[in-house]
Amino acid sequence: MEWEAVIGLEIHTQLATESKIFSGSSTRYGARPNSQASLVDLGYPGVLPVLNAEAVHMAVRFGLATGCTIARRSVFARKNYFYPDLPKGYQISQYELPIVHGGHLDIVTEEGGVKTIGITRAHLEEDAGKSLHEDFQGLSGIDLNRAGTPLLEIVSEPDLRSAREAGNYMRAIHTLVRYLDISDGNMQEGSFRCDANVSIRPRGETELGTRTEIKNLNSFRFVEKAIQVEIGRQIDVLEDGGSVVQETRLYDADRNETRAMRGKEEANDYRYFPDPDLLPVVIGDDLIERLQANLPELPAAKRARFIEQYGLPAHDADILTANPESAAYFEAAVSASRSASPKTVSNWFQGELTAILRRESVEVADTRVSAATLASLLDRVADGTLSGRMGKEVLEALWNGEGSVDEIIEARGLRQISDAGAIEALVDQVIDGHPEQVAQFRGGKTRVIGYLVGQVMKASRGKANPRQVNEILKNKLAG
Ligand code: ADP
Ligand code: MG
Repeated sequence: MEWEAVIGLEIHTQLATESKIFSGSSTRYGARPNSQASLVDLGYPGVLPVLNAEAVHMAVRFGLATGCTIARRSVFARKNYFYPDLPKGYQISQYELPIVHGGHLDIVTEEGGVKTIGITRAHLEEDAGKSLHEDFQGLSGIDLNRAGTPLLEIVSEPDLRSAREAGNYMRAIHTLVRYLDISDGNMQEGSFRCDANVSIRPRGETELGTRTEIKNLNSFRFVEKAIQVEIGRQIDVLEDGGSVVQETRLYDADRNETRAMRGKEEANDYRYFPDPDLLPVVIGDDLIERLQANLPELPAAKRARFIEQYGLPAHDADILTANPESAAYFEAAVSASRSASPKTVSNWFQGELTAILRRESVEVADTRVSAATLASLLDRVADGTLSGRMGKEVLEALWNGEGSVDEIIEARGLRQISDAGAIEALVDQVIDGHPEQVAQFRGGKTRVIGYLVGQVMKASRGKANPRQVNEILKNKLAG
């Protein structure tokens, strides 16, 4: 039997507002526990929530960017459950009337094609606090700094068909929220995480199978691995004659397996009801028009423009537009460079610069080599002053703060030898010194030229222009 996987994701993305969704406390990450929790966040009786308009604007921006219908009237509801990090005893969320619904987003499939994934809805809600188990022996601490942080929960249709597709969808949403500047998308800090709903069915079947929900996945890799093992587990269960139980599961990365957390029988009854402390959110045409007019160029449009305007391969455009900082860096370098082609800039960005950024664990936004500096380096490669190899050395020196491109070239004596006379002299010297290889070449063993080029390069201490060395050597050997 051939099985087909069906996956739907619920992505929680923290909105990048200054203050919380219903209070004036700061949302900044990493502060001393409970230093950013007001009476509203602490759930004191008698205090009232006040909705943060900026969170509403951000949710609408997301809705507009994904072709959602913007609800003219949406309602906050109380989702009731007990947990130590939820002092009110309920989470304020949206239930029947979310702020946006019925949209879509294109993703890249495993085969490199394009597929449209439905977005069921996205709703606003508040985050809960955090329980800290490490700090006190035998006790748990409660930190309510995160309580009341605005979240946008983005729910997909069950349109995804493989772990890889689900990962690509999550990446596409991540890219989009970064472009829209509505979330920092920082996964280490928990600003972007997801629950994956997974079921399987015989290929060709149209009814959905029973699903499980894997909670709280906070990296693209874990999402893909967790879904992959869960699909495998469900196939084993069904092929052994069992049936999949609808339940919540946890992914254990160390053992690469999912484990049951709670079943449907123990499922919470949230007793949702409209929050009497908050008015319905009413959104008018004027606000929608204003937010629409201020949308930035979106990832898909930028990707298409990079291919068209810069003549880049699709693969390059994918990488450069994966986040707004990379795209901006690339465009700034292209426009600052006098003679490097966009493809050359793209190659250096993806190759040498990205290698350094990875090695140093630095984001593009915090790079120590600006786009203008990379452009001046690539101009020196383009005009023949530097070979590619020398260029890499200069890039490292730039990273280490050794000065401008030209200062580094001077200080390190890195000027490439492009003077034909000087190179000819070196070539003659090598030809005289290697009669055996020269005879081999002339006898038809032309591959030996690689060795001779190497000898000339060595004699120039790596500074001769390799293209010229090749040419001059070929001419002399033929002559
Ligand atoms: P709940 O609110 O109980 O979590 P929803 O019906 O809102 O359930 O669905 C949540 C997510 O689960 C959505 O992303 C949806 O696409 C997905 N989903 C629903 N049914 C299935 C299924 N049978 N297999 C896989 N995913 C599913
Ligand atoms: Mg759910």
